[in-house]
Amino acid sequence: MKTLLLLIIFFTQTNFSQPNAVYICSSGTSKKYHYKQDCRGLKNCQYKLLKISLDKAVKEGKTLCKWEK
Ligand SMILES: [Zn+2]
Repeated sequence: MKTLLLLIIFFTQTNFSQPNAVYICSSGTSKKYHYKQDCRGLKNCQYKLLKISLDKAVKEGKTLCKWEK
């Protein structure tokens, strides 16, 4: 029963989360995007974190954060 519940939670979260969503710091100067919201590269961000699509991040000239390569 517990396993079934976990499976339901897993699939529910998978369906609702965007697989290609990344996080950026909305400082305006940040050129990096991050897969993880709690990435160490985002710890210095004094601005709001934005969740955007990977496509949009790349189109804006952002590159993957050096901590996540
Ligand atoms: Zn990062």
